Amino acid sequence: MLSREQEIVAVLKRVDDPELPSVSVWDLGMVYQIQVHGSYVEITMVPTFAGCPALDFIELNVKKEILELGWVTMCTVNFTFKVKWSTDKITNEGKKELRKHGVAPPPENFVPGGEWSVNCPYCDSPFTSLENIFGPTACRSILYCPSCKNPFEAMKPVIEHSVTN
Ligand SMILES: [Zn+2]
Repeated sequence: MLSREQEIVAVLKRVDDPELPSVSVWDLGMVYQIQVHGSYVEITMVPTFAGCPALDFIELNVKKEILELGWVTMCTVNFTFKVKWSTDKITNEGKKELRKHGVAPPPENFVPGGEWSVNCPYCDSPFTSLENIFGPTACRSILYCPSCKNPFEAMKPVIEHSVTN
């Protein structure tokens, strides 16, 4: 028997970030707090990238999926800006999923303002220069791997972002 919290976590592992399909909000490290008050579930999440306009979708998807649990009658999703998300909150499972879909997970041990490099998600060749820092979304960059001749996307490293509200 799963506890109610575990059931909620299982659901959150199925809800994707629309910006990064195939990686769940749980594996992205976006879930900050889960509170269960009887049949009322309150979930607090940390937005990943300030530039990603996907929060409304995420909120709707999380609510919809949580309400599928028979015992939940109400669910609210709040986003907190008090805590800062960083790319090192992505779980190992999440990194694996990213790689599987041709997106290099952000580098570890990144120093803010410093140079960064990632390994090619296809052939694991270390890659050091950015082909184009303007990726399809604010979260990602497009890179090119000279070893296997594949373009790939990389998540930009984020240690903290400044949010004023
Ligand atoms: Zn490669």
